[in-house]
Amino acid sequence: MTDQTETFSDKLLGFTIPARNARGKAVRLDRAIDEILAAHDYPPAITHLLAEALVLATLIGGLLKDESGQLTMQAQTEGGVVRLLVCDYRNGQLRGYVDFDRERLTELGANPPLSALFGKGYLAITFDMAGGEGRYQGIVPLEGETLAEACEAYFGQSEQIPTLIRVAARAGEDGCTAGGLLVQHLPDGEEGRERLHARMDHPEWEHVVALAGSTRHEELIDPALSLEALVWRLFHEEEEVRVQPGAPIARGCRCSAEHYEQIIARFPEEDRADMRDENGMILIDCAFCSKVFEIEA
Ligand SMILES: [Zn+2]
Repeated sequence: MTDQTETFSDKLLGFTIPARNARGKAVRLDRAIDEILAAHDYPPAITHLLAEALVLATLIGGLLKDESGQLTMQAQTEGGVVRLLVCDYRNGQLRGYVDFDRERLTELGANPPLSALFGKGYLAITFDMAGGEGRYQGIVPLEGETLAEACEAYFGQSEQIPTLIRVAARAGEDGCTAGGLLVQHLPDGEEGRERLHARMDHPEWEHVVALAGSTRHEELIDPALSLEALVWRLFHEEEEVRVQPGAPIARGCRCSAEHYEQIIARFPEEDRADMRDENGMILIDCAFCSKVFEIEA
């Protein structure tokens, strides 16, 4: 039952379960993630971490109603092995990088838990609306076993929206595949309204959690299972599930020579003189895509 209109990878799928006041997003990243990782030389633990973060940024960014809005996810630590992790999503364009201590990472061994990677830190999730129409930021402590758990805590604490998130990633010789599912309860039936009494034990939501919580990691990254089939598997007993295939997802960086020229121009001449190399150029590399720009300033 494979049909070309089904969603397999590098595309976001949205769905709603009207009778339960629930909505969700599902995504599987394949080529997009390989292209992002190709710009870096990350060890397996960091590859895995960034893959999960990119899936989360896509799932959460996909909630933005306004296509030109931007979602930025940033995990920052105090003295952690991972110093900084940044991912952002805008209109199907995704990018991310990790700044970490290579030496200390090797001491952690294979599959270090989140707490070992980050130590004490926090997760900031920022929504920038299009056209400078505002910015909303929520910050939660970086706790739990996975980044997905920290994101669930963000929705619970910062937005009072009961949310379930599952993410899986697998890196092999033929590249990396990562997938995820996000489901939320919007009991008022209205998105974006303030919910003062969000209930994690609402019967509708408990039911959705029981179904969505049965998602297995292998299903999220199985290239032969379409996202429609996955949603159907989980929720086929519901009277109605509406699916909306969404935007294609691709690696996208917004770095440009003009952008860096503007930044450099803001520095005092004294500082610019220190930055110049023997040829009088200032070299800047983009942390997201590792591209190097030669700025004549
Ligand atoms: Zn770039």
